[in-house]
Amino acid sequence: MHKPEIEPNIAIGMLRRAQLNPERTAMIFEDTTFTYGGFAQLVRRQATLLQESGVCMGDRVAFVGFNQPAFLETLFAANALGAIFVPLNFRLTAEELKFIINDAGVHTLVCDAPMQEVIDPVKSELCCREYFGAESNIDGWRSLTNERIEAAPLQNPVGVDQHDTSVIMYTSGTTGLPKGVMLSHGNIMWNNINAQLSYGGGRDDVVLTAAPLFHIAGLNVMTLQSFMMGSKLVLIRNFDPGLVLQDIAKYKVTSMFGAPAMFLFMSQHPDFDITDLSSIKMLVCGAAPVPESLLSLYSKREINFCQGYGLTETSPFASLLTPEWAISKLGSAGQAAFYSDLKIVNDDNQELAVMEHGEICISGANVMKGYWNRPEATAKAIDDKGWFHSGDIGYLDEDGFLFICDRLKDMVITGGENVYPAEVESVLYKHELIAEVAVIGLPDDKWGEAVTAVIALVEGADVNLEDLRGFAEVHLARYKLPIKLHKVPALPRNPAGKVLKFVLKEELSRKL
Ligand code: AMP
Repeated sequence: MHKPEIEPNIAIGMLRRAQLNPERTAMIFEDTTFTYGGFAQLVRRQATLLQESGVCMGDRVAFVGFNQPAFLETLFAANALGAIFVPLNFRLTAEELKFIINDAGVHTLVCDAPMQEVIDPVKSELCCREYFGAESNIDGWRSLTNERIEAAPLQNPVGVDQHDTSVIMYTSGTTGLPKGVMLSHGNIMWNNINAQLSYGGGRDDVVLTAAPLFHIAGLNVMTLQSFMMGSKLVLIRNFDPGLVLQDIAKYKVTSMFGAPAMFLFMSQHPDFDITDLSSIKMLVCGAAPVPESLLSLYSKREINFCQGYGLTETSPFASLLTPEWAISKLGSAGQAAFYSDLKIVNDDNQELAVMEHGEICISGANVMKGYWNRPEATAKAIDDKGWFHSGDIGYLDEDGFLFICDRLKDMVITGGENVYPAEVESVLYKHELIAEVAVIGLPDDKWGEAVTAVIALVEGADVNLEDLRGFAEVHLARYKLPIKLHKVPALPRNPAGKVLKFVLKEELSRKL
């Protein structure tokens, strides 16, 4: 069969955009402007540096740090060489990062300065062959900025296929151990096509990214789309509601992605009422449904939301609710993304009828290749007909709109971050005064859900929330630490000994 010379590769796409529109502004970061041509040059130089450091096709190159141009530069540079990019969550502890870096077999690690200090104590236990600091010189690290050498011309194409892996993104699982989700160049691109066909976006858009780039939503809901479209990206180092409002007005931002909590914090900021938001054409929201109160608050400023449901495994959009449906289908996560399909199945993987509750399954070119080095987990998640089983419970109404009701998987979403109770429980069980512990999510006005520890203590002992957090913070990222504590004499269990978390959730939610 004839194979096209150039297969979709997101890095080659960006370099091509730079060829077409070299003078256009690609990105603004902390008042520095990068044209497409200038940014492409940085990407080429970093690709040359990585190549000289021995990075080959299929090798893993990781970045850990806050949002910054070097993050995207590393992604595009790695992909331009056919290498795989592994973004890492900067909120993780050194122990958590060590597990992921070694699991992915990272060849080259790029860090910003604050994260170099986190990594240093475990550096000798990592498998990496090369270490670069993105911003400054720190002993034992090569410097990306100082060593940026002349760009060698890249082989174009490098032989990458659209089915080859572009990024590996880590998400935790019910076992508590993070798994690497392999997303191909094609997965990334089909998500962008789906988004484009749903809520549009054009060359003259100004996209603001304040969500973390290490998460699929920060990376692939609008950011990579912006580079493909040739639009302008305003990149924010770390979400700060006041700064976001300021930049919306300053750069006449037209669209932005956020979790509901981010839009809530913006609306509560003292500058919200006095900020000119008239440039905004649309806000894109995911991770949880947008509450009606938030919809109406923003609609008073003539701002609409496009809401999406999805997972890292689906790159992420599985469904989208465009603004025209926001009120008539309130609470829905929308219809299947343009070139994706949705169905609801029962425990026997049989398709259910309209309005029947079951597990949400997704198929389409946006569904991941699988989990890195975990064939059994992949086989469990993607069935032999290619349907990805989401672990979320929902139903489809008569018009094909999806409603999400619950989660099969034991997961808490707090401020847009996923917390897997098994991981938190395994740490808290090490506390000598705790006899039993269950971690659950309880409704919370600010965070959506609050990570809540329900504990039974050993006889005569006492522990407060601060003790618990202090004990756990060495092992767990701060966002995973419980913010609520309930003490019970014993956890409710079924006859087989399984903790009945739904009983705890019901009882404690009622008390709230
Ligand atoms: P992640 O892989 O981090 O993107 O997390 C995916 C999970 O977030 C899904 O399995 C859902 O449980 C949840 N989620 C994403 N979008 C929505 C939404 N619009 N409404 C409710 N839950 C959502």
